[in-house]
Amino acid sequence: SKLLQSKAKDPYPDWKEGTPVPYAALCTTFSLVEMTSKRLVITEHCALFLRQVLRLTPDDFLPTVNLMINKLAPDYAGIELGIGESLIMKAIGETTGRSLQVIKQDQKEIGDLGLVAVKSRSTQPTMFKPKALTVRGVHKGLMEIATVSGHGAQGRKVDNIKKLLSAADAHSTGKIDVNTDKGGPSEAKFIVRFLEGKLRLGLAEKTVLVSIAQAVCIHEAEQKGQVPSTSDIEKAEQLLKTVYSELPSWDVIIPAMMKTGIMKLRESCKLRPGVPLKPMLANPTKAITEVLDRFENQTFTCEFKYDGERAQIHYVAKDHQDEYIDGVPGATQEAAKGIASVFSRNSEDLSKKYPDILAKLGTWVKEGTKSFVMDCESVAWDVAEKKVLPFQQLMTRKKKDVKIEDVKVKVCVFAFDLLFLNGEALVEKSLRERRELMYESFKPVEGEFAFATSMDGQEIEQIQTFLEESIKASCEGLMVKMLDGTESGYEPSKRSRNWLKIKKDYLAGIGDSLDLVVLGAYYGKGKRTSVYGAFLLACYNSANDTYETICNIGTGFSEQVLEELHKTLSEIVIDRPKPFYSHSSGGQHQPDVWFEPRYVWEVKTADLTLSPRYKAAIKEGADPAGEKGISLRFPRFIKVREDKKPDEATGSRQVVEMYRKQESVTKNKGPSVDDDF
Ligand code: ATP
Repeated sequence: SKLLQSKAKDPYPDWKEGTPVPYAALCTTFSLVEMTSKRLVITEHCALFLRQVLRLTPDDFLPTVNLMINKLAPDYAGIELGIGESLIMKAIGETTGRSLQVIKQDQKEIGDLGLVAVKSRSTQPTMFKPKALTVRGVHKGLMEIATVSGHGAQGRKVDNIKKLLSAADAHSTGKIDVNTDKGGPSEAKFIVRFLEGKLRLGLAEKTVLVSIAQAVCIHEAEQKGQVPSTSDIEKAEQLLKTVYSELPSWDVIIPAMMKTGIMKLRESCKLRPGVPLKPMLANPTKAITEVLDRFENQTFTCEFKYDGERAQIHYVAKDHQDEYIDGVPGATQEAAKGIASVFSRNSEDLSKKYPDILAKLGTWVKEGTKSFVMDCESVAWDVAEKKVLPFQQLMTRKKKDVKIEDVKVKVCVFAFDLLFLNGEALVEKSLRERRELMYESFKPVEGEFAFATSMDGQEIEQIQTFLEESIKASCEGLMVKMLDGTESGYEPSKRSRNWLKIKKDYLAGIGDSLDLVVLGAYYGKGKRTSVYGAFLLACYNSANDTYETICNIGTGFSEQVLEELHKTLSEIVIDRPKPFYSHSSGGQHQPDVWFEPRYVWEVKTADLTLSPRYKAAIKEGADPAGEKGISLRFPRFIKVREDKKPDEATGSRQVVEMYRKQESVTKNKGPSVDDDF
């Protein structure tokens, strides 16, 4: 392929062997990526650039990768920019000497803050040229912005953004020229987009992963004077995918890869306590018969589906600490007992939320259990009645700096999988084996720790009875899992067909609730005038990185919830919709206010229907004419999904699948959309 033949180009005279990678060079690559939607071409641009970095400045490989995936560090490190539009506008104004009013006006007209920054810049005469930005400098600058805290933090954040913006594009050569790969004025644009949390290049982390594998594989061969075969490259890609799924941390993988080479990565980079895995997820089903069809001739097991919060518990006993990944921030050091952390579904460190779990962990472990990673659900527990409490109770717990003595809502941890035990990863073992190891290694403690209740019967009546029992025990329904054979291995980060969920409410409804992003709101009427009375929600289309509107919602909120939502959402109001919102234009369909894409809500619906007013999945072909999007009928608010980020919201593809699955598609039901406000 072109990638193998072409030598990476060298249009930056200042970028010599060992010198820092110019940020402009990375932005040129971004600009090239931005010009295409072909994944193979995108991969090639990224791989070519990464090869150049490896050849000239391998020390900058890690910050380059981080900037490409719009992250400063792995999720578990808890480093977040959290910068709102208004702060960025302030910084642009102050850097370029333009008033905030003018910036806001531009933002109204252009609609893309990145471009507003570029425009502001180009009208500014430069008295002297600041030093050109470098990749490591930009990474460091952004890191400082993210980690500033304490008194005057906002001001210092703005100052740091100003520092970056005033050096951006100082050396730009004008418009980007595709033939010479020369960078245009794009540094300010990409810095601003990074700050906003979306580069909007259609550059998924998966694509960057493939580019890394290609670049490293070709570079390593080149150094030996060889050319890798296509199958070598494919092997490297596969290997990196496996390694990353078990140890999702470029901070750990990249230095190891530099040391050992990509093909030996598996020796040093395996699942280890300290780095949370992306959890395995389940597929929804609508009926027990669907489960039986899926697992025909296979053994499966049913477990209660507890309604709490996923908790991935990592633990290493005192004398085995070398098993814990070094330097991982967030790990709760309890020198006397060992190291332990609790991670969320999202790889966030929950250790400060659950000191009670960490304190008791040691008493659930049998002798001989020295290190483990366990997949669990933490559930609110009624100490007096000795039973599970609803999810809402768990949500009332404080999230940070919880002191054990102040804990009011007790939790019980229900363990359902064991992924690592005593130095060994178990993910490739069958579920039956993993479960047996789990039973052997831990001891239940009433009201604190239990194994998920399970049942291995394969008959439809047994499953029906077990489902009813789960509901009586205040669970959401059942998880049904493949029990034996390779297919029953633990598949990190996958929504797998080997795990199915049956929720009690599915049995009649559309299958599952949706998790949607709040984009806008309408002021309330009548009793609700001081708060927002209804909201505009969207699903996420990962193919082009947009949020597509799906419904208005005004049902399912208590007065108290509406007040709370008004408080949190008022803080993230923006002047106009982001350019990556796909919504109907035209007066009556516009919400009164727009928000940054930050909150995800779980929503239930009676069914899905086509509507000209919404844009969900419009490109996925549900409406052959491509004019109508999919919309929810009678949507109802369930809860805020604090454990999901906006790009983890229900995807457009999932929406179209739900739409196709529901029986009503063929029936032509009711009015097209009911907006309930
Ligand atoms: P949901 O809204 O159903 O939680 P989700 O996308 O967060 O959706 P799913 O894969 O659909 O996750 O459902 C699995 C979730 O159910 C897990 O993330 C976990 O938190 C919870 N859970 C409760 N009991 C179990 C169990 N026995 N096995 C696996 N997961 C369980």
